[in-house]
Amino acid sequence: MNGSRTIPLRPAASPARLPLNGKHFYIWTIGCQMNAADSAKIAAMLLEAGYQQTASESAADLVVLNSCVVRQAAEDKVAGRLSSLIRLKRQRPDVSIVLTGCMVTKQQERLREQFPHVDLFFDPSDFDKLERVVPELGAMKDDLAELPHYYLPEASTSGVTAFIPIIYGCNFLCSYCIVPYRRGKERSRPMSDIVREVEQVVAKGVREVTLLGQTVNAYGHDLEPTTNLAKLLTAIDAIPGLDRLRFLTSHPKYMSDEIIDTMAALPSVCEHMNLPVQAGDNEVLRRMRRTYSRDDWKDRIAYTRQQMPDVTVATDIIVGFPGETDAQFQRTHDLLAEVGCDKVHLAMYSPRPGTLSVRWEDDIPHEEKQRRHQALEQLQEQLCTERNARRLGDRVEVLVDDQARGRWSGRTRGNTLVHFADDRNVMGQLVDVSITRTSPWFLIGEPAVDPHSGGAISPQISNDL
Ligand code: SAM
Ligand code: SF4
Repeated sequence: MNGSRTIPLRPAASPARLPLNGKHFYIWTIGCQMNAADSAKIAAMLLEAGYQQTASESAADLVVLNSCVVRQAAEDKVAGRLSSLIRLKRQRPDVSIVLTGCMVTKQQERLREQFPHVDLFFDPSDFDKLERVVPELGAMKDDLAELPHYYLPEASTSGVTAFIPIIYGCNFLCSYCIVPYRRGKERSRPMSDIVREVEQVVAKGVREVTLLGQTVNAYGHDLEPTTNLAKLLTAIDAIPGLDRLRFLTSHPKYMSDEIIDTMAALPSVCEHMNLPVQAGDNEVLRRMRRTYSRDDWKDRIAYTRQQMPDVTVATDIIVGFPGETDAQFQRTHDLLAEVGCDKVHLAMYSPRPGTLSVRWEDDIPHEEKQRRHQALEQLQEQLCTERNARRLGDRVEVLVDDQARGRWSGRTRGNTLVHFADDRNVMGQLVDVSITRTSPWFLIGEPAVDPHSGGAISPQISNDL
């Protein structure tokens, strides 16, 4: 879920947009999809205020860096990027530099000392502060409140998938994690707003929506009256024209039978679940303050597989947590081998200032963290090689969202990447593909031939990984 990128943003137009003012903005984003969604929101606000987006910071009047500090490596990249802007500010003092995202703390004195060339720091729950460098926004508050929260990634490709935040913040306090300190308590968005946004994006041609939240399956518990993710999924599934519905990231504690049963019952909800385990040893889980056991996590996967036999599972694991012994790591390794996840997001433990675990010695040497990381990578490769090899000859439904080097690419409902060649323009289409070659990380195929139509190519069938 991490990586630095410049997101080509395509926010919705609003009736209140001010005339172009000749100014340009540039946004650089690193981190999770939630950051990408925040950047989309900022871009939408600036477009409303009459700014235009540029792909180069040297051409910009306003540079926004949207930061991530979940791990030290991400923080270092942001710091590097910030330092590189010192020259720009020296050459063009009129350029406004803004820092947002999880690097921004409530107390900003230290940041101001460290990066004096930054004009504005604002935390991700406080978009209104942008007004300090873009005064036009002040008079537009009511209209801005109406702006959507979604983003449609990568304008150069299909515009066929959209990401929509449904809950902000996190009420957990995992001992290693900085997110709750930077993103605050859980705040669910009203269901009617979310449903309206899904309707809007579907009307624009989007066929797949991913609902976002740090604990997406805690959705609605804080609303009055309370509601839940199962009810939201049901409301969204009823929207005509939406083919695929996904959500991430779920917390095992909130992965209720009701949500799983609803996933299984609704046609648009994809057979894919993102359920981080973080560690396979109960003592490590306890010290991580994860609030569940290894068996709890396994039970949720087993129940989901019982209700949705084709479901694929993604998880997150941290290796080298303080005090993690060889035997404890081995239990994580064995759990992964036993359960056989389809995708694992691996991270080496990185102490984060302000969290609980930073008080404990970071006693696993870097080389040992790397060894554990590699061991899980190898295991994952082996598991994925075996799993994908079983797909040879299968017919899968692919939602095409990219084209490169003469072939089309897209994902199955189970989120497996598939490449295939096709003379037709199939961008944004659901295409049935017969798998002819497999690898651990993707499948290769060709358009499936429908036996009932004398060799014609079938436009759709739902048979999935
Ligand atoms: N809310 C999700 C959950 O409960 O698992 C994850 C959100 S977190 C921002 C994304 C991932 O970053 C986590 O799943 C974890 O694996 C990783 N992560 C968070 N803090 C970390 C740290 N201090 N060191 C290494 N990895 C970390
Ligand atoms: Fe961080 Fe834990 Fe909240 Fe996930 S659930 S965002 S890991 S505190």
